[in-house]
Amino acid sequence: MSPPMSEDEPIQVMGAGLSGLAAAIILAKAGREVHVHDIREDSGARFDGDFQGIENWTSDVDFLDEMREWGIDPDEFKTTSFHQVNVIHPDDVITKAWSPTVAFRVIERGTAHHTIDQGLKRQAVAAGVNLHYKSRVNPEDCQIVAAGPKDTSALAYGEIFETSHPDHVAFHFNDKLAPGAYAYLIVIDGIGLICTCLWRKQKKSTRYLNETIAWYDKHYPELDRKPIKRVGGKGDFTINRNYTVEGRHYVGEAGGLQDFMWGFGMRCAITSGVLAAKDILGECNYETEVRKRLLPTVKTSVSNRWLMNRVGDRAFKKIATSWMKDQKKRQDGLPFIGRIFRPDLFRNIVYHLAAKWMLKRVDVDDGRIIHRLPYRKALKRDVWEPSEEAIAIGEEWKRSRKGGNSESFSEEE
Ligand SMILES: Cc1cc2nc3c(=O)[nH]c(=O)nc-3n(C[C@H](O)[C@H](O)[C@H](O)COP(=O)(O)OP(=O)(O)OC[C@H]3O[C@@H](n4cnc5c(N)ncnc54)[C@H](O)[C@@H]3O)c2cc1C
Repeated sequence: MSPPMSEDEPIQVMGAGLSGLAAAIILAKAGREVHVHDIREDSGARFDGDFQGIENWTSDVDFLDEMREWGIDPDEFKTTSFHQVNVIHPDDVITKAWSPTVAFRVIERGTAHHTIDQGLKRQAVAAGVNLHYKSRVNPEDCQIVAAGPKDTSALAYGEIFETSHPDHVAFHFNDKLAPGAYAYLIVIDGIGLICTCLWRKQKKSTRYLNETIAWYDKHYPELDRKPIKRVGGKGDFTINRNYTVEGRHYVGEAGGLQDFMWGFGMRCAITSGVLAAKDILGECNYETEVRKRLLPTVKTSVSNRWLMNRVGDRAFKKIATSWMKDQKKRQDGLPFIGRIFRPDLFRNIVYHLAAKWMLKRVDVDDGRIIHRLPYRKALKRDVWEPSEEAIAIGEEWKRSRKGGNSESFSEEE
């Protein structure tokens, strides 16, 4: 447990995102004085209306039930539950993965009232948390560091648009459109997002987004896409020697607690924030809980990432085909994904023999030693000529931007 703090001592949290706000809600509800500092002007300002999926496959417990048990109300923000997703194979075959249980929920990030960021912020304010935006603090002065990603291990880049298409999610295995990762389409209430994730560093990420959009325009003609804005962000994936250093708890992405394979980090971020708060309240030991509850899944994702780095479309096709076969046998597509994400002997061996060696040691200024997933170099196969349709989409976006539509993300961030 961290050095005992007097109950009157105010608690300082660095970062008013998911993990920082989750921690602050628990602490303030327990009667503690909490101050949360964020360099941005509001919670969620790191994002700009992007849709993200909260997974329900790394645990048998539904995440919203878990949040309620902790005293965090998920009804304060908008969630859209999905039992079904279109799985797009690398050869453009489209199949449906489905589950009788909720496989995941889509939420929105940003500063609008219905986003998860603002839903947590309202609960923090109601619990008495003191929020300080545009406030810069030193991590050394904080008990919880929840400042999100610092460096880049991977990027996601997307376009938000108006559409008349009904609610829908498509998960797209395609090593050309999304080098080393996946692309996706999400539509909720007439707003769509087409996004490509890049786990290899490319000279111009826009090329990949334009080509991905061109793919969707061709295969989903009913999308009727009217661009609104382009968004994106980076992911920072690290394994840390310690998660509590000199009394400071590193939570969420500031602690590298992320899914190295596909970047599903929200559940881990909120859970780690709650665990850090419980440590301060004397209810658990953060370091021990992270090692027990989160790290095994994170290390499994390191092994998955190492394996993914070794394959391309042929293996993606095999994965998609095996997924569909397994679903047919079990009449449920979720266990297949659950098995990939949850620790097992094979991935444990892969981790110790190979995967952990791809991480690069970094000695951080604040005294921590971390091992970061480097943003991999591009491969020869990542260089290709854009299609005419993709070039036209690039031009369409340029006109859209000139007309006032925003781009909240640049590769230099
Ligand atoms: C484009 C994109 C798509 C994603 N999609 C998904 C998805 O579908 N599903 C999923 O589970 N995860 C997804 N993720 C990952 C998910 O967003 C993160 O795992 C999650 O936001 C991490 O929460 P956090 O609390 O660590 O950081 P955040 O929620 O980002 O909060 C960090 C906060 O710290 C603040 N901050 C930064 N620096 C400082 C500083 N020096 N001082 C004070 N405050 C500071 C920031 O302004 C921010 O408010 C995605 C990420 C990106 C970039």
